[in-house]
Amino acid sequence: VLEKGMPDRSVVTTCAYCGVGCSFKAEMKGDEVVRMVPWKDGKANRGHSCVKGRFAWGYTTHKERILNPMVREKITDPWREVSGDEAFRHIAGEFRRIQYQYGKGAVGGITSSRCTNEETYLVQKLVRQGFGNNNVDTCARVCHSPTGYGLGQTYGTSAGTQDFDSVEHTDVAMVIGANPVSAHPVFASRLKKRLRKGARLIVLDPRRTEMVKAPHMEADYHLPLKPGTNVAVVTALAHVVVTEGLFDEAFIRERCDWDEFQDYVSFVSDPRHSPEEVEKLCGVPADDIRGAARLYATGGNGAIYYGLGVTEHSQGSTTVIAIANLAMLTGNIGRPGVGVNPLRGQNNVQGSCDMGSFPHELPGYRHISGDATREIYESLWGVKLDNEPGLRIPNMLDAAVEGTFMGLYIQGEDILQSDPDTKHVSAGLAAMECVVVHDLFLNETANYAHVFLPGSTFLEKDGTFTNAERRINRVRKVMEPKCEYADWETTQKLAQAIGLDWNYQHPSEIMDEIARTTPTFANVSYELLDKMGSVQWPCNDKAPEGTPIMHIGGFVRGKGKFIRTEYVATDEKSGPRFPLLLTTGRILSQYNVGAQTRRTANVVWHDEDRLEIHPHDAENRGIRDGDWVRLASRAGETTLRALITDRVATGVVYTTFHHPDTQANVITTDYSDWATNCPEYKVTAVQVSPSNGP
Ligand code: SF4
Repeated sequence: VLEKGMPDRSVVTTCAYCGVGCSFKAEMKGDEVVRMVPWKDGKANRGHSCVKGRFAWGYTTHKERILNPMVREKITDPWREVSGDEAFRHIAGEFRRIQYQYGKGAVGGITSSRCTNEETYLVQKLVRQGFGNNNVDTCARVCHSPTGYGLGQTYGTSAGTQDFDSVEHTDVAMVIGANPVSAHPVFASRLKKRLRKGARLIVLDPRRTEMVKAPHMEADYHLPLKPGTNVAVVTALAHVVVTEGLFDEAFIRERCDWDEFQDYVSFVSDPRHSPEEVEKLCGVPADDIRGAARLYATGGNGAIYYGLGVTEHSQGSTTVIAIANLAMLTGNIGRPGVGVNPLRGQNNVQGSCDMGSFPHELPGYRHISGDATREIYESLWGVKLDNEPGLRIPNMLDAAVEGTFMGLYIQGEDILQSDPDTKHVSAGLAAMECVVVHDLFLNETANYAHVFLPGSTFLEKDGTFTNAERRINRVRKVMEPKCEYADWETTQKLAQAIGLDWNYQHPSEIMDEIARTTPTFANVSYELLDKMGSVQWPCNDKAPEGTPIMHIGGFVRGKGKFIRTEYVATDEKSGPRFPLLLTTGRILSQYNVGAQTRRTANVVWHDEDRLEIHPHDAENRGIRDGDWVRLASRAGETTLRALITDRVATGVVYTTFHHPDTQANVITTDYSDWATNCPEYKVTAVQVSPSNGP
């Protein structure tokens, strides 16, 4: 402030990093941000913020930002700056040619969890109305798609059950595969505050995270399970609850399907799910599994919070189902202080899923095969919609390699850096004839692009983000776009170029269309958001001011559904050549692949990713702290520096993935969740050896 002078105005908007969705007052002097001040009336953050949000504007004016559209014929050609009109005409021509030559299904789009609800809605509309297929997917594919599947199957809705305020009533918190201290810091502060008031804590994580032990706080149970054994451990917790008679029979009789429950009891009571048997698989002492199960079942209001350590596995969906079973079993659903709460990684991953960014679902999680749902959009958009699901991202890449998928519009997503099996991603992109990257920077994926469309930052546009508690927050334009168009306008221009008669004057009109066509958003409008600050969906005639807690009195699907959760070991096995298991995570000051945080002040707190390795494993390999090491898997290898620590157990190594040089996904495999194709980022068999550096 001293350097830039006093602000002359301020605009309330929403942080564009994590799924907490903190509200900020952007204080401005002219067209420059002076500082970001956490907004005390923000319902998700109540005046708090983390270091990422406080410095969230530096990348807006970064010198590497690309502000003009660019085109090239071949990916080996130099880029040529063109006008917006020429770029849109070029894409429209290329996509038309590709569809004529290869068929209607040869093109598609990817929406971004970084963009607004309105922008993701437009991309799926462009694909369905304009391209005439359902080849639309989202970056949620690689993070929380198992949440959508697992909670949809068991409870009937693909979202977390509680608001953040609910934690004030929690007696026992169970944190599974998440490190909110790093990834969701403002929520972590609220949880820690509750723990300091006496709530108990259970942590399931291969690593001793900052959640396990911190000043004035220590978990009652830390279950440091071997990566890949989530299903076995959560099912063992349920085994204890059932065999020791700790389940809530009254809740189950009233709220769940009793026949399915009895089938589940016969499954989960089997001795193969006992803590003693599961200890042999996961390495966690049976007594700790028993103690944790008893505490969760009998300690009062039990709330489960989980993250990507649950979903990014070959059994990600099964683990989500196992968690949902456990909460139903103990009656921990449908009131304050309990619930199943996915901690969404990105600012709008909930929203991008809500908006129909999946190849099988229209907005509001309604399957594309439903005639009545399709008819709503067919009459509004004036086209016949395809009733068959389209291609997911990995299928698009497969089809590209096979020569049947040739054109892709990617909004705000760097799939080369963030998706698994980098070699396969680059092969797929290289095989395509028209790749359109719509982004702020020339990211890694742009190396394979034929057209670059400049993106706008969250400060340069209006819209909404939906956070991890289903809260729809307003994003308000703080400054004029540095490039010609805000992102929603760019997608609209592209739609117009391919002949669609879109004519939205403001994102509020897009939200009005969403509300008209999506029952869970029926009452949402910018007017209501301005009046209330934010609302949580479902927001309709039954809940005119939104729904903080879901499944009160009954599940959305009717009766809660217990489903068997058989543990199946991942095909990714450690062995003599690759004896260690690699898992990954984040640090507080960086965000995902770092495209924004590496271009802000945050970079001074973290300038490289390190490989955490246990002292015994390091000593066996002659590795000292800070040494360069070679990290190799069956898929590939990379080089980074070692950090020797007993935060990881022997046999496990860990790294973050914020810097492109680390190339963590060069070594991840192509195994994925059986139900959703979410990649198995959290288990890779590796070898670590000394290296001279990159
Ligand atoms: Fe809040 Fe997350 Fe932004 Fe931090 S990164 S300020 S916790 S929304």
